[in-house]
Amino acid sequence: MYATLNTKSASNEQRNRNAKDPAMLKMSHLSKVYRTHMVETHALRDFSILVREGEFVAVTGPSGSGKTTFLNIAGLLEDFSGGEYWLDGVDVHGMNDDQRSRLRNEKIGFIFQSFNLMPDLNIYDNVDVPLRYRRMKYAERHKRITNALEIVGLAARMNHVPAQLSGGQQQRVAIARAIAGDPKLVLADEPTGNLDSLMARQVMDLLERINEMGTTIIMVTHDPELARRAHRNVQVVDGQISDFKPYEPHAQAASVPAHIGAVHTPATAGA
Ligand code: ADP
Ligand code: MG
Repeated sequence: MYATLNTKSASNEQRNRNAKDPAMLKMSHLSKVYRTHMVETHALRDFSILVREGEFVAVTGPSGSGKTTFLNIAGLLEDFSGGEYWLDGVDVHGMNDDQRSRLRNEKIGFIFQSFNLMPDLNIYDNVDVPLRYRRMKYAERHKRITNALEIVGLAARMNHVPAQLSGGQQQRVAIARAIAGDPKLVLADEPTGNLDSLMARQVMDLLERINEMGTTIIMVTHDPELARRAHRNVQVVDGQISDFKPYEPHAQAASVPAHIGAVHTPATAGA
């Protein structure tokens, strides 16, 4: 079957896409080194992951392990030092800034822990920002903005500025902004980190709904309860995907006998 595919004269698009592999995101042996003065930080090393279209993946791991670096590279906000990265079948390596921005605007929506809304713009205009970047016509933008605000339940608030909303509502605006461009992939970096547990659950409900509508989601979280609701959990430790059981900072250590707790040693090291 693959031989047939290979003998066909492929268009550019087909050549860029690997027909055998419906991966939304695929990184192989990726590395990222930050160099500052005398210090070299290997934020990611030999980092490999495959996320399929439609998946909802939760990423956990200790602080400083490389989770944000992974999302920033995945979202084409940062370059990587080595290895390979395919986004929706497109080889990202060697793209110039223009090509990367275009790909990012078309395929990716971001949600940050601190919402990152523009304080002087009302809700409607905040959601409009990335659409204007894409030079969409007014009618198309208007349709997308109202639709996105309806999905997150804030259509009635479109004339409010962010400071007039609760934290949970502000994050829902940020979600509307992320999905208004109809991205295939949403990247969320601790989206509930600044929210109380009720608001966190509402944001998670919303992300689940967006995922059910077909959007692939990768979410970094420290909340084991939210991580468990994803299809799959991956853990980042020391810049690498780890095969260990998911990191649970709030796990009830007291209920686990000390000798069992001690079993979490690097049994797979060198595997
Ligand atoms: P996490 O999100 O898991 O907390 P990060 O991806 O933010 O971790 O950071 C991974 C490592 O890379 C840390 O050691 C961090 O200090 C370092 N790092 C991140 N960004 C930079 C940067 N811009 N310059 C230098 N070092 C950085
Ligand atoms: Mg981080």
